[in-house]
Amino acid sequence: MKKVLQNAFLALSFSALFAAAPLAMAADHGEEHGGGHGAAAAQPEISASETMREVIEGNERFKMNHDSKYYEPFQNSQSPVLTVVTCSDSRVHSHLFGFVPDNNIFVIRNIGNQVSNAAGSVDYGVRHLPTKVLMILGHSSCGAVKAAMGDYSGETASIKKELDPLRPVIAMDDQSGEFKERWAKNVERNVDYQVDYSMKLYEEKVAHGDLVLVGAVYDFNDIYGQGRGSLIITNINGEKSPNMIMQHPVMKDLTRGPVVTHVSSRVQ
Ligand SMILES: [Zn+2]
Repeated sequence: MKKVLQNAFLALSFSALFAAAPLAMAADHGEEHGGGHGAAAAQPEISASETMREVIEGNERFKMNHDSKYYEPFQNSQSPVLTVVTCSDSRVHSHLFGFVPDNNIFVIRNIGNQVSNAAGSVDYGVRHLPTKVLMILGHSSCGAVKAAMGDYSGETASIKKELDPLRPVIAMDDQSGEFKERWAKNVERNVDYQVDYSMKLYEEKVAHGDLVLVGAVYDFNDIYGQGRGSLIITNINGEKSPNMIMQHPVMKDLTRGPVVTHVSSRVQ
């Protein structure tokens, strides 16, 4: 992690760069749209040509801020410390971790942050690189979870194929209470389910202490009450109780104060 901390200051300038980009500002269009599955929020019309102009000009700015030396440490091989399986949702990006993701985070993304839909990629991160932490990262208002809670029979065959594995998660929902709360709980249940699924794949590595499985939710709706943008850890190696998570060897020596605000559960 020393490498990660050394790069932390770069993350700040990187974020500032994105904050200044016109597309980043244009993308601020409400909190409730469900990743293509929920009610559409009003958003500005941006043509394909305008998008490509932003992409090319944005890359020019990126190049200006990253000289040749930036790439030297990793130009021939990668050495990430973290494998993350997260959702393709455009509101979720690795800058949430606060350090430069380059050469630090091996990211696998699909709708609903599912291990079974990307098992080969996850194997690559865990067995070949190999990182010592595999994180399953869900998020507030996940459109894939919302879609799986309803009737998605009208979706394309490919989308249905990727939503079907969420059925066991939704089966745990007792259907009581408000939809928003059920949705939030199902997001966390999905994370737990993916961690349990990973435990079966990597049981031996976990048992030998070579791998830690972490379940987390990126909470940009302040559902867990720790402020928007919080990373909430809900599971370690299948342990879902916040008290037990706090006592896990990988957590117990961390500074107590900040850690407490990052461990929680809505379903336990
Ligand atoms: Zn999602």
